Amino acid sequence: MIDESLEKVQSRIDSVSHDQSVQLIAVSKTRNAVELQLAVDAGQQHFGENYLQEALEKIDTLQGQDLIWHFIGPIQSNKTSKIAEHFDWVHSVERVKIAKRLSDQRSESLYDLNILLQVNIDQEATKSGFLLEEIEEIVPQIENLPNISLRGFMCIPSQAHPAQSFSKMANLLAKYPKMDTLSMGMSQDLELAVQNGATFVRIGTDIFGKRDYK
Ligand SMILES: *Cc1c(COP(=O)(O)O)cnc(C)c1O
Repeated sequence: MIDESLEKVQSRIDSVSHDQSVQLIAVSKTRNAVELQLAVDAGQQHFGENYLQEALEKIDTLQGQDLIWHFIGPIQSNKTSKIAEHFDWVHSVERVKIAKRLSDQRSESLYDLNILLQVNIDQEATKSGFLLEEIEEIVPQIENLPNISLRGFMCIPSQAHPAQSFSKMANLLAKYPKMDTLSMGMSQDLELAVQNGATFVRIGTDIFGKRDYK
């Protein structure tokens, strides 16, 4: 089941990516370690998690398999130390303070933690993230912090006009030649995201099925 849906999602990506390199992140919030292991057995290496406690248990259970863990959920200050210790990427940095804490708390003995700034690209009251016009003053405050590497931007667009939002994200990345990463595209809009330059797509439902939050 999971192997077939992974294959389907990958071919949707391939159908629009041409020679662009796009990495599929399996968003595994609410899924248990057994389900993740099925995805690993099918060749999936990148996983995205939203809730720290739940993620730490799975990271521990699945250790030793060379997996790459992405934190994609809201971040409270008191969670940064565990995130800095256990993750490879953080997509949801939406305050300078959080970037500074991750920088302070990432061990020097690990490679730099990869950071993306979350952008509230459609300025929606219900979504978090920096506003587009703030980015220019935020980047210099973060890009030279030790132990982290600012790689690019992430967004969750409004469903009203995702193509337009993705295209604004591509224009934003183009202003920063040192950065190389755009995290955008979920189950229902991944093709549009890839067509507009996504380098990570974050897919949950179309890999693992509908989530049951209970
Ligand atoms: C849950 C989640 C996803 C995956 O969404 P699907 O619609 O299930 O593919 C992607 N990104 C973020 C930030 C999420 O919270």
